[in-house]
Amino acid sequence: MKNTFRKKRGPWIDFLLVGAILILGGAIVFLTNLNEKSIFQKNQNTGSKEITSDISEEESTFPGVKIISDISNDDKMRFAIQYPLTNFDALNEAITTYIDNSKEYYISMMRLQKDVKEHTGELNIRLDTYQYDHYYSFVLTNKMILNNLEHHTKVKTFLIDSETGKIFDIRTLLNDDIKSLETFASHIQSEILKNPKLKGKISQDKLMLATKPEWSSFNRFALKDESLIIYFDEGEIGDPSAGSLTFEMPLSFINPLLASDFQIAMEADETIIPKVDLDPTKKHVALTFDDGPHPKVTKQILTLLEKYDAKATFFMLGSRVQYYPSLVGEIRDAGHEIGNHSWSHPVLTKLSAAEVTKEFESTEHAIFNAIGQNSTVFRPPYGAINDSVKTMIPITSVNWTIDTMDWKHRNANSLLPIIQKSMHNNSIILMHDIHQSTADGLESVLAYLTNEGYEFLTVSEILNYHK
Ligand code: ZN
Repeated sequence: MKNTFRKKRGPWIDFLLVGAILILGGAIVFLTNLNEKSIFQKNQNTGSKEITSDISEEESTFPGVKIISDISNDDKMRFAIQYPLTNFDALNEAITTYIDNSKEYYISMMRLQKDVKEHTGELNIRLDTYQYDHYYSFVLTNKMILNNLEHHTKVKTFLIDSETGKIFDIRTLLNDDIKSLETFASHIQSEILKNPKLKGKISQDKLMLATKPEWSSFNRFALKDESLIIYFDEGEIGDPSAGSLTFEMPLSFINPLLASDFQIAMEADETIIPKVDLDPTKKHVALTFDDGPHPKVTKQILTLLEKYDAKATFFMLGSRVQYYPSLVGEIRDAGHEIGNHSWSHPVLTKLSAAEVTKEFESTEHAIFNAIGQNSTVFRPPYGAINDSVKTMIPITSVNWTIDTMDWKHRNANSLLPIIQKSMHNNSIILMHDIHQSTADGLESVLAYLTNEGYEFLTVSEILNYHK
């Protein structure tokens, strides 16, 4: 029976045996590769051949942080990748997703090249790790070259609180405060332009775009010792030939903007925020001058303000700023606050969203061109504002509490009596630096307020007393 059966089924058994051997053999090869962790299984559908790599894991000098290296074995698809492995799943997942995507993009782009015989493609992802207190910053510098056709250097950062395992970002750092972000963005812009290391490498237009006061503008940064490093991709704020640029400044400099967990313990000597000692027993006033600058009137006002050691705020029209950029510089250098008052003085509540944005942004552009920094406060023409306009203006809008009507009476002798009649503490006084009568009447106002014991603050400063 057995023999008969065997004879009858012989060829089938042989076939099954050969098949089983092949399957087993394949499984052994597959498992061996898995054990060595050297198989890269993604993108197998896109090409003829697998890309294998050596993955190794080593301890680092940072407690709880291992470094993974992933080096390609394929001399036509070269890559060398480093990334951290921590005890925190959410962070590990975010990082491996980023690494996998970068690798996939590189490999698929390389396979699109017709001639991969040229060994000119390369992907390099380098890891830098920084520690500030219990905060870790992982900086991945992603440099990719595709057969001389495309290359980039991009930076990606991952930040984590090593005590809680929570990932944090710029929003966390600035306490989710949009006002802090505005101040931060505007100071970063001017600091970058002033920075000697970056001199000649920066395009103002690109910088303005890259550092708009939006959270996404500052999603690449690191905390290192007691400083903050901001990263920009190759070509993002300057010429691509300058590579990826970084800007570093002491954390103490932005101490007042930081969420309390990040504030440095020591008292900062110098910060980007002028110190306002909130003393409610003191008397304060903010003088504001709209619709300028004006070559004669504004100059006269600057001289008077200097004489009384008074700081003021100038709400400028972009259409005038463009003609007097150096005057804007003089105002700024004298320590006064620079405000945006629209380009052409329209009633903003009657304009479309696009028109409002244009009025604001073109003026910002003119101010930035003049002094290398943005305005810090906005005043709508005629004080006309509503919720919809507010959402289009990314900085604080401020009107006034005392209207001197200087534009109407044009009488130097009327300025002081009007102010005296309505004067109150922490008032914001509206004047215009385009009328000669205002400049002529200002000295009596400055003398009176000084005599009454008022301290002259900028609008942003006095707003601290309006909260
Ligand atoms: Zn006006």
